[in-house]
Amino acid sequence: MKYISTNRKSKSVTFREAVIKGIADDNGLFYPGNFNPFSVEFIQELKQLSLSEIAFEIVRIFVRDNIPDRDLFEILTDTLNFDIPLVKVENEVYSLELFHGPTLAFKDIGARFLARCMRHFLKNDDPVTVLVATSGDTGSAVANGFLRLKEANVVILYPSGKVSELQEKQFTTLGHNITALEVNGTFDDCQKMVKQAFSDQELNQKMKLSSANSINIARLIPQIFYYFYAYSQLESKIKPLIVSVPSGNYGNLTAGLLAKRLGLPIDVFIAASNINRPVPDYLVTGIFTPRPSRQTIANAMDVGNPGNFARILLMFDHSWEAIKKEIKGYSYTDEQIRAVIYNVYHKTGYILDPHGAIGYMALKEYMNSFDACGIFLETAHPAKFHSIIEEIIQTKINIPSRLFQCLEKEKKTILINNQFDDLKDFLFSKM
Ligand SMILES: *Cc1c(COP(=O)(O)O)cnc(C)c1O
Repeated sequence: MKYISTNRKSKSVTFREAVIKGIADDNGLFYPGNFNPFSVEFIQELKQLSLSEIAFEIVRIFVRDNIPDRDLFEILTDTLNFDIPLVKVENEVYSLELFHGPTLAFKDIGARFLARCMRHFLKNDDPVTVLVATSGDTGSAVANGFLRLKEANVVILYPSGKVSELQEKQFTTLGHNITALEVNGTFDDCQKMVKQAFSDQELNQKMKLSSANSINIARLIPQIFYYFYAYSQLESKIKPLIVSVPSGNYGNLTAGLLAKRLGLPIDVFIAASNINRPVPDYLVTGIFTPRPSRQTIANAMDVGNPGNFARILLMFDHSWEAIKKEIKGYSYTDEQIRAVIYNVYHKTGYILDPHGAIGYMALKEYMNSFDACGIFLETAHPAKFHSIIEEIIQTKINIPSRLFQCLEKEKKTILINNQFDDLKDFLFSKM
């Protein structure tokens, strides 16, 4: 398996190179070249496999040139020390709970896998500097995934004042090989600074940089298998299957589209967004217009210029017609999010988080007009947003203790401006 760049101007690379470089020389994102779909029999027999076994069969396709099977199986079982249950919320509507990992968001899966791949590849090498921009949940997932790994120093950029206290504490209190840069700006500024760092020659000559954002292919690939695992847990597979993906940087949706190309029978994907809606707008107009991000209560999806959209365009050969056939877009305001959390809790007892709530709403809106079976991704544990949720449902919710341990620790950050030179100065100062 070779990985090509979405900009098509640099040569293709192996999985190992793609993971370590993070981004292609021409500034494009890596994308897997040719692969064949699984047989119908394989898909039908998924039910007999465990989560780790399904993960192994899927991920192996993408990494087998560089990671021996035995090591891969170990990496995956170590990554997946928690379950990913499919929970029935109401008739024909299921929640794929991706939030049972250590930091209670789906990003644990990609981050833990990436960290273990890096460890596998960099054993006995000089450590790399992993740069990562976060709108909230990436920071904690990456920090926890990489904590104490001697192969990597992690530098996290996040927008000051735009993540919740709990999210912030999850990646600013760890110490060791984790440094948090508090940027006076937006998430998009952080993402832009990280991108610029990768294309800065002087910086790249002096230090080995890598990325842990969802743009890193090793974050994306492990997200493919949970679509298969979800499918294996469905009770009935008669109606067309719809999967609704609460989206921000569009990694999860890209992974879902890859699952479909591997033969998983998903009829339609839903790009469910908050008021940051460049992709739903594109689906209507055919024109992609990145915009500055706006703050919402589903803050991990406050992305105005989703990085993974380049991969989706490549996958569909830039055909708007083809894209809008397979992906439907919906977007919702904070008021609508609050209302649906309230209604679903009172109707069914199920507690949505603000991100999953968007996925649920979009799914229901689509299913109003089509007879189908639907899965929405629940991307974060509601306890991560407990004050908002408790205010909406007027009930105390259970909070896993691992969420609170970090609150007692002291936040340690370095304040910088939203200018690339400030990041560069910091990185040089660390050498
Ligand atoms: C990151 C995140 C998203 C958005 O996922 P993308 O793959 O970036 O589209 C949605 N929900 C939560 C809770 C997240 O942390």
